[in-house]
Amino acid sequence: MDDLRSNDPEGVIAADKAHVWHHLIQHKPFETIDPRIIVEGKGMRVWDIRGREYLDAVSGGVWTVNVGYGRERIADAVRDQLVKMCYFAGASGTVAGAEFAERLISKMPGLSRVYYANSGSEANEKAFKMVRAISHKHHGGKKGKILYRDRDYHGTTIGALSAGGQQERNARFGPFAPGFIEVPHCLEYQAQPELAGPDYGVKAAEAIEAVILREGPDEIGALCLEPVTAGGGCIVPPTGYWEKVQEICRKYDILLHIDEVVCGLGRTGTWFGYQQFGVEPDIVTMAKGVASGYAAISTCVTTEAVFDAFKDADDPLGHFRDISTFGGCASGPVAALENMKIIEEEGLCENSAAMGEYLLEGFRKLEAKHEAIGEVRGLGLFAGIELVESRESRKPLTEKLVGRVQAEALADDVMIGAANRSVPGYNNVLLFAPALIATRDDIDRIVAAVDAGLTRALA
Ligand code: PMP
Repeated sequence: MDDLRSNDPEGVIAADKAHVWHHLIQHKPFETIDPRIIVEGKGMRVWDIRGREYLDAVSGGVWTVNVGYGRERIADAVRDQLVKMCYFAGASGTVAGAEFAERLISKMPGLSRVYYANSGSEANEKAFKMVRAISHKHHGGKKGKILYRDRDYHGTTIGALSAGGQQERNARFGPFAPGFIEVPHCLEYQAQPELAGPDYGVKAAEAIEAVILREGPDEIGALCLEPVTAGGGCIVPPTGYWEKVQEICRKYDILLHIDEVVCGLGRTGTWFGYQQFGVEPDIVTMAKGVASGYAAISTCVTTEAVFDAFKDADDPLGHFRDISTFGGCASGPVAALENMKIIEEEGLCENSAAMGEYLLEGFRKLEAKHEAIGEVRGLGLFAGIELVESRESRKPLTEKLVGRVQAEALADDVMIGAANRSVPGYNNVLLFAPALIATRDDIDRIVAAVDAGLTRALA
């Protein structure tokens, strides 16, 4: 870093402490400790302003930098694009926008239209607005309710929070938008007593059907689900779940909206998480890994049928009257295009699948040594370890102790994550999402840091 005050770390830290309002965290501790300022990244490694090196097992904190740091190829493409044409509002097109849409759609059979936005929350808002507009235009205001699942997260805006199944994320931000209805989670390890037992997957899906019947199928327009619940505790849906969910959506003519903000672009070992389960969605939203953090871009991708619902030149209100100013930034699709090429050329979906297996194997080997490991779960390079007070009770380990394990891993210079202030009483899952370029050595180091962290924190 040769800009600003790279030779003046204390000055930068002082400026940060005086003026930056950081996301998500309590600032009181900064009266006695310093915020972390990350200045450089290469591959899976990052350096802070004091020169300390970390292995980043969470891809930028929130599972974003899928292709790793320091990709000059993306930076060059973005630079060239910015010099040539930085921006034009999305009613017009860009070359990169067309190219990226075509490439993306080639990986998403059954879907055909790409709507550009900036963040995961925004992409989900677009999807909700599409459902609501279809309800008004085609169903006389019926089929406007949207189902979301306990423990899932769809973003930070009031609409997305209204579809949020993580109570602690929602706390104190109400009142919320009406018409969003919660359905039960599908975490077998902490199964709802009334659903527990054989065929849990089918029963958890049938619990969605029960909500549909309660509300009236004519009222429900869409079901919005994460393919693998990410921040809510790395929940890989159980066997039989997705088949039943798909069947239920078809039976009641409910649009299936899959939120791939975390799982998209190779995170789970295939291009998209839903593709692991044979699901055929109507709407797919994605953000984070779309450009791996090299540009702010998200997309809401739909079937031609959803798109066609807005084609009516005789109705002045018939088209999708929505815009995202920065959805017209050409830097987004340019970065996303290079990002996709890298994933393809370097076989990163395949590496995610293989290294994900290796990571789970590594964690499972720790089970014999650490009684606190209740369950290890994951798909591709998204993994979680549910920590419990005892295996018998499955009672969640306290958030404080989980935080201590995280802190101990950090003491070994490995950044790991946790379901943090999401689900009351159940913020007991360590989360891992290393870049898709991770090697066996990287994984060994992550597993070793967790092993040491558990030993020291829970001794
Ligand atoms: N959906 C999911 C599944 C997410 O995990 C997140 C962010 N963590 C979002 C949506 C919201 O994305 P953003 O922060 O880009 O608005």
